Amino acid sequence: MGELPVESISGPAATPEQDVELVAFDVDGTLVEHQGGLVIWQVLNRRWGPGGMVDGQRWRDFQEGRLSYADWVRLDVEGWRDGGATREEVLATIRRELRLVDGAERVVHGLVARGYVVCVVSGTLDIVLETLFPDHPFSHVFCNRISFDAAGLISGWQATPYDMEGKAAALHQIASRTGIPVGRFAFVGDHLNDCSALSVVGCPVAYDPKHERTRSLARHVLAPGRLDGLLDLLPGPRPARR
Ligand SMILES: [Mg+2]
Repeated sequence: MGELPVESISGPAATPEQDVELVAFDVDGTLVEHQGGLVIWQVLNRRWGPGGMVDGQRWRDFQEGRLSYADWVRLDVEGWRDGGATREEVLATIRRELRLVDGAERVVHGLVARGYVVCVVSGTLDIVLETLFPDHPFSHVFCNRISFDAAGLISGWQATPYDMEGKAAALHQIASRTGIPVGRFAFVGDHLNDCSALSVVGCPVAYDPKHERTRSLARHVLAPGRLDGLLDLLPGPRPARR
């Protein structure tokens, strides 16, 4: 017997898995991975920005209230732009350094086939999902956006208001758009920026949690490489919504 892929933790007032209708995913560290555990921001800062030191400093400045999320995004993207990053080079860097976690496409498409609505609420960049999962079936995608001009140079960006504490707000928006209450959502995430989302859904799931708080908020914990444990947790086919 190998390690069980799913570690289930019973919690108070949790929604039974058979009531879940919608599954929302984080991206970096959950659907997408880097060999050294970096996220897209760190990967691109390492290639075009002032180097690895800046990530830790900006994170601390954000945590301690000296830097807004939008300004953090701006500083990072301006660094890539001023470093001469082109769309083709960014795409090549994403393809070289990041990849979908094992089974991600099968799990996400499998959930859709079972009748679940699937969404993304993430601090990633839109270009990561478009590059690594171009045929994704997500009906709602909340993330940061970057744009390039005709010459392939960075021409703009849009910082998402729906990372960190904003993830819970995004889930409430999805609930009002779909008519599915957040109590019938599962959310799958790996890090501290997922905690607000994990706190509001009926079925919080941690994939390869990077922080004890993330793990402690989860009803189920999926081991690294075992995202497919979701297909064991969430039954199918779901009855059609009335
Ligand atoms: Mg993550």
